[in-house]
Amino acid sequence: MVNSPSRQPGSAFDAASGSPPATRLEVKDLQTWFYTRRGVVKAVDGVSFSLEPGETLGLVGESGSGKSITCLSILRLVPEPAGRIVGGEVWLGGADLLQLSRHEMEQVRGRQVSMVLQDPMTSLNPVFNVEKQVGEGSRYHLGLQGTGLKDRVQQLLRWVRIPAPEVRANDYPHQMSGGMRQRIVGAIALSSEPSVLIADEPTTSLDVTIQAQYLRLLKDLQEEHRFSMIFVTHDFGIVARVCDRVAVMYAGKIVELAPTQELFSAPKHPYAQALIQSLPDPDLEVEWLTTIPGQPPVLYDLPAGCPFAPRCTQAMDICREEYPPTFETGLEVGDGGEKAASHTAACWLYGEAGS
Ligand code: SF4
Repeated sequence: MVNSPSRQPGSAFDAASGSPPATRLEVKDLQTWFYTRRGVVKAVDGVSFSLEPGETLGLVGESGSGKSITCLSILRLVPEPAGRIVGGEVWLGGADLLQLSRHEMEQVRGRQVSMVLQDPMTSLNPVFNVEKQVGEGSRYHLGLQGTGLKDRVQQLLRWVRIPAPEVRANDYPHQMSGGMRQRIVGAIALSSEPSVLIADEPTTSLDVTIQAQYLRLLKDLQEEHRFSMIFVTHDFGIVARVCDRVAVMYAGKIVELAPTQELFSAPKHPYAQALIQSLPDPDLEVEWLTTIPGQPPVLYDLPAGCPFAPRCTQAMDICREEYPPTFETGLEVGDGGEKAASHTAACWLYGEAGS
């Protein structure tokens, strides 16, 4: 059944003229596969997580672990025809996004869920000025025109701390610094005040100082506008600064999901442990950095069982036979005794086989 946005009372879609209400995102058993000449690549294979309003979830893992394809799948922007979402659900504001029509999905992109990409130079169009590009979302989704649209663009530029917005609105991307261009991309993403912002390594092209400023800006904007955020990164320093919880991905699956501080202090999955151990300690002088032995698996030719087994120092017989289910490894309990946050790992060490 197709869930029509307009038929969802109380849903995010009812607020066509104003800001969408803060909504929970729930991804269930998402599967996105690529059909290649060499075989089927299960780029995202059974990914599930939820995102509360105002929360930031970090998606971390090596290149090719499925972080970016998970995000593109939420927006249904998987490159076709090779890529296909073959299963799962993505719930937002009372609708399963994977069941919406193309037209309905166009209303969701930018309006409900926005994305900030790594490289502003490739996401900004060099032949249109800032006003045109920042204003597009407000024109399309909010129906603004003329002076109203101009004012809105200047307001958005002020949000992302662009000085003299009335002047800079007329600039073209090449007239701005890298940090400013990334802010412009941020203004575009926020132009329709989405419920969920997906930031895919948004600071990769920035130097360290500008990166820190941009992260601070994102957090400030999140506090002001209360959107939730999925932050894709391979930088644990950024994770520590920005994320409330972290999902560690390996070979298209989430292998560990935990509150950020807990992941750093007590990682459970051997892959997450190895990642944390490989972080350089600025107080120690070392000749060699610690690395994870072996190579990431070839996704069209995965071994049976746990794909990390060939690199895992704690692998058991069962690990090479069966993929482990997700085990609860620790539960954070709130002051009132309620379940506050869970810590899970897909690893046989936490099942009966490991005890
Ligand atoms: Fe290692 Fe087995 Fe856990 Fe995989 S399931 S990470 S091989 S212990």
